[in-house]
Amino acid sequence: MIRFEQVGKRYPDGTTAVDDLSFEVREGELVTLVGPSGCGKTTTMMMVNRLIEPTSGRILIDGEDISTVDPVKLRRRIGYVIQQVGLFPHRTVLDNTATVPTLMGWKRTRARERAAELLDLVGLDPALFGSRYPEQLSGGQRQRVGVARALAADPPVLLMDEPFGAVDPVVREQLQDEFLRMQDAVRKTVLLVTHDIEEAVRLGDRIAVYGQGRIEQFDTPGAVLGTP
Ligand code: ADP
Ligand code: ADP
Repeated sequence: MIRFEQVGKRYPDGTTAVDDLSFEVREGELVTLVGPSGCGKTTTMMMVNRLIEPTSGRILIDGEDISTVDPVKLRRRIGYVIQQVGLFPHRTVLDNTATVPTLMGWKRTRARERAAELLDLVGLDPALFGSRYPEQLSGGQRQRVGVARALAADPPVLLMDEPFGAVDPVVREQLQDEFLRMQDAVRKTVLLVTHDIEEAVRLGDRIAVYGQGRIEQFDTPGAVLGTP
C-alpha cells in the first residue's frame, strides 16, 4: 500500500537523515518506527505526506508515485497526528474535528455530524466536549481530539508522530488501548513514530527498528523481541 523504494534524504546542510530505505506497509497494517532520537524516523514519515521531499528513490501509495500527486490533495488523503496537537485555539472541539471535511467542501451539518461520530469513537462524548475550546481539555483529551480530527475525512493512511508522548504513563496506556480498539474498527494503514520500544511492540503489527539513518530490523513484535 505504501512502498519505499531506495529512499534517501540528505538535508541541504549535508546531514544524511535516511539512506536507501526500502520497505512496504500493507493495507490496514500498523507499522511502528522505533529508535533513538535523530535516527531518521520523523524524516521517513514526513516524506509520505511530502512535507519533506526525498533526495533519492521514490515512494508509492497504491502503486502511484507520490511525487506526481499535488501535495495538498495528497495530504487530504493522509491523516496526521503529532505530539503537540496543533488544535485551533479559537475553534470548538467539534469545529476542530470538522476542519478537514469542511475544507473538502462537505456541507456544514454533515461535517459536524461526522465530527461528532469521530469524537465518540475516540471516547469523548460530543454533547459534553464538542462545544469546549482546546484550553478547556486535559492533555490526554487534546490528543484524542487530534486523532479524531485526523480521522474525520476517513483518510486511508494515518501518520502519527509520538502521538501519546505528551501525557503521563497511565493516560498513555489508556490512549494506546483506545487507539488499538479504534484501529480494529477502522483499519487504517498507519505509520507511527515512537522512541519507546514498549509502545512500538504494543501497537505495531510490524516494527521498523531504526539505527542511524537506516532500518536494522523490520519484523513482527515477537520476532523483534526474539520470541517465536
Ligand atoms: P528522529 O525522528 O528519529 O528523531 P529525524 O528524522 O528528526 O530523526 O532526524 C534525522 C536526522 O536528520 C538528525 O540527525 C537530524 O538532526 C537531521 N535533521 C532533521 N531535520 C533536519 C533539517 N531540516 N536540516 C538538517 N538536518 C535535519
Ligand atoms: P488527564 O489526566 O487526562 O491529562 P487532567 O488532570 O489534565 O487530565 O484533567 C482532569 C479533568 O479536568 C479532565 O476531565 C478535564 O476535562 C478537566 N479539565 C482540565 N483542564 C480544564 C480546564 N481548563 N477547564 C475545564 N476542565 C478542565
